[in-house]
Amino acid sequence: MMTPNSRQFYDLFTGDGTAYRQFIDELFNQRVQSVVCHVPFYRDLFAARGWTAAGFATIASLHKLPIVDRELVQAQPTERMINAVLDPASLPPPSYTSGTSGPPLKLYTSRDFYLASFYLLQRSYGGAVPFVAACVSDADRALPPADGCQLHFLSRNRTTAELFARLLELKPDLVMMRPDRWRLLIEEVGGELARLRLVVAGVSGMMTAPSERAYFATFLGCPVANMYGANELGGAIFECPAGREHVLAHHNFLEIVDDDDRAVAPGVTGHLVWTSLDNRIMPFVRYKIGDTGAFAAEQSCRCGWQGPGTLSFAANDIALSDREKPASHGQSALTRPGLRQWTSKSGGTTSLPSRPAIAAVRSRDRISRHLFSPFID
Ligand SMILES: [Zn+2]
Repeated sequence: MMTPNSRQFYDLFTGDGTAYRQFIDELFNQRVQSVVCHVPFYRDLFAARGWTAAGFATIASLHKLPIVDRELVQAQPTERMINAVLDPASLPPPSYTSGTSGPPLKLYTSRDFYLASFYLLQRSYGGAVPFVAACVSDADRALPPADGCQLHFLSRNRTTAELFARLLELKPDLVMMRPDRWRLLIEEVGGELARLRLVVAGVSGMMTAPSERAYFATFLGCPVANMYGANELGGAIFECPAGREHVLAHHNFLEIVDDDDRAVAPGVTGHLVWTSLDNRIMPFVRYKIGDTGAFAAEQSCRCGWQGPGTLSFAANDIALSDREKPASHGQSALTRPGLRQWTSKSGGTTSLPSRPAIAAVRSRDRISRHLFSPFID
């Protein structure tokens, strides 16, 4: 199977959905073949049940596989979950779960299609390509540039001043980080954030209220999109300009199940079960992450998203497990609409500036407006 470049991915996302679904099937089959042959945990599981990869040609067969949860994965040595073909010296730096629900998991991700998803995000919000994107993550690293696009991971150990200085150097079009880091940046540099001239800012890794994202936008001067991700998964859901949350199925395919592991109907809340499709190193298959949510009853979206039809959430319809609940923080009061002033943990008092609201998004070169154009003016 050919790996599409970002432009081809974008065509898959924005086509009629048929080719995208076919691509998901191919990815799934490839992933099953890989884990059966090379990941000891899944190799043993398949052998014990007498299964072969041939029985899992399309994503429709996913439900036949057992669900694994965090406790089961925590009980395995990390090596049993990793593709044994890969040279350990070639692995990227690991990341870790927070450890709020048991011992932290050591995780490795290849993030094969990450750049393509940033391409989608950039184009969806009216930005041009090529672009530069930055994500706050466990360690400094950069993905190999593709199609002229760059994605830099910046260590979360940087101080806020160092982080801001590095962002000014990189001149990114998109930046993704947790809301607590955005709060610290606002506290430290305030309106200077607008100097970044971002197309779109992403918040990920913790819950945020729409009012808080709107608040961030007043400093950034750009839309602030909600992203759902997890260390086990990488990016998984993005908020489109129409305010709906769409699953990036080529990264992680989502099922939602009840307490007996049966699929629930749209609109019914259940457990999120994820299957990694773009992680060659340590892929989880049917991984119950501990979060709950519901597919939206209304699947079509004004933005034209054509991903697998059952894979979009109503905005803010996901209840996250303890790992991602907002940390106790002085500025959590920011989530209260109408608040004009707050006192930070360090004791300083900050007032909301009088700034134009989110609608005053700076106009940048927009090479493609057909997808979301009604929603970005
Ligand atoms: Zn949408």
